[in-house]
Amino acid sequence: MLKIDLTELKRQIGGEHAFSFSLPLSELVPDLPETLEWQALDAVEVNGVVTNTGDAMWVRGGIALKARTACPRCLKQYETEFVNEFDEQYRSAESRQAEEERCETYTGDELVLDELVRDMVLTARPVAPVCQPDCRGLCPVCGVDRNQKFCDCEQVSIDPRLARLQQFFQK
Ligand SMILES: [Zn+2]
Ligand SMILES: [Zn+2]
Repeated sequence: MLKIDLTELKRQIGGEHAFSFSLPLSELVPDLPETLEWQALDAVEVNGVVTNTGDAMWVRGGIALKARTACPRCLKQYETEFVNEFDEQYRSAESRQAEEERCETYTGDELVLDELVRDMVLTARPVAPVCQPDCRGLCPVCGVDRNQKFCDCEQVSIDPRLARLQQFFQK
């Protein structure tokens, strides 16, 4: 579990506590959804800071992990880092505010971040969205990987609205 001991921090309003965890994805998310479009290659790194704002524990930071995924343009597998950021207020479960508002809570002197971090991992995004910045992708006509081969298919994918505009200018 990703637990932070708040015993000290609860005594100091305005106080901060930095945290850092590293743990295998399988431990954090034992039931990975099959729809997930990447495979983890390394542990999940979690870094952040908790601040005691007086009426809540303000948690902010980020997660990062190395993963393999398919390039959306050429479908080739490539490796990149997946990242996400969080910024969340946790109120004491015993407080009145926690009852009134529907907000994240902590119980006693323990802040448990498992759920937050799990959500962050499952919605993380790749730092590099394609295999290489100038990936040419697959030819929509013959399907060849245009990073490896040339083809002389005619690329006729003009937006119909643009086609009309084009006619207009040809008159
Ligand atoms: Zn690609
Ligand atoms: Zn082609």
